Amino acid sequence: MEKWQKILSKSIMDTATLSKRVKIDKRKINKVIKRYPMKINPYYLSLIRKKNDPIWKQCIPDASEVELWAGRKDPLLEEKYSPVESLIHRYRDRVLLLATNLCTGYCRFCTRKRKVGIREKVLEGKGAQKAFRYIKRHKAVRDVIISGGDPLFLDDKRIEFYLRNLRRIRHVQIIRIDSRVPCLLPQRITPKLCQILKKYAPVYFNTHFNHSQEITKESKRACDMLADNGVVLGNQAVLLAGVNDDPQSLRRLFEGLLMMRVKPYYLYIPDAVKGTYHFRVSIERALEIMRGLIGYTSGMAVPRLILDLERGGGKTPLLPNYIFKHRGRRYIFKNFENRKFYYADIR
Ligand code: SF4
Repeated sequence: MEKWQKILSKSIMDTATLSKRVKIDKRKINKVIKRYPMKINPYYLSLIRKKNDPIWKQCIPDASEVELWAGRKDPLLEEKYSPVESLIHRYRDRVLLLATNLCTGYCRFCTRKRKVGIREKVLEGKGAQKAFRYIKRHKAVRDVIISGGDPLFLDDKRIEFYLRNLRRIRHVQIIRIDSRVPCLLPQRITPKLCQILKKYAPVYFNTHFNHSQEITKESKRACDMLADNGVVLGNQAVLLAGVNDDPQSLRRLFEGLLMMRVKPYYLYIPDAVKGTYHFRVSIERALEIMRGLIGYTSGMAVPRLILDLERGGGKTPLLPNYIFKHRGRRYIFKNFENRKFYYADIR
């Protein structure tokens, strides 16, 4: 067993074990995990500094998950856009390959809460061949995102199997891996895995850090190893109430990510997923937060704010409005400090 597999094997999945590590209301948490499983690996648990801190909120089940009834299981209609099992084809030139529904830890805010950890599922055998055949037949697909669950929950052999098969399809130019392991279980990033990713370059890697408390010596080492092996790293964060919904926390996170060669790529407004409503942040607040970032840190550290429209409407970028008014070609702007006015004739 590799080191990361040993850590993972010690994950906490029941309240009796969890209560030995942190003070919890077992009765309430048991009710939640009957519907939405819990898995917290010892590494991620060790990042908790105090009750209800940003790490706690992301991994310790909360009664609101079953008490708030708002939201839908699948607001983005991923199932509808799934022409073959484990493959989502929403945009003309991109598909999402769902490698597994298992992860190295179950995040309480997960957008695929309806399936992660519920029934063990791995894309393999005939199912995998069917997915590869679908991609082969659709010549417009030039970008494949290997997602899940977390694909890096699977072993290196399986990862290489996906990469090898995708690289055989001539029209697939870009392969991306969506994985939270550099944050949840950075020990999973090993020299052997990096060699595999390098072999099938270009491989892009979208990781998922939500708070600067997740940036540690181990996660830096993991991202450094990936970057040193030519993997291009981006980060998709989710705006989460009580975790990171203020400009200062996000600035610390995004500046920290840049220091480990990870470009903040997207900042999502949370999807309207049942069981995650206590994390919801309004669009107004999200735009206010963006105002607190733009101009106050380098543009490199500012991701795009994205709302994934319900019913499969697609990813939609949102930006605060800096145009105060305009008449004909003359525009009046408010600057980022919201106090000076600038004029420009746009011809
Ligand atoms: S690792 Fe990703 S897919 Fe798995 S529970 Fe967390 S957010 Fe969801």
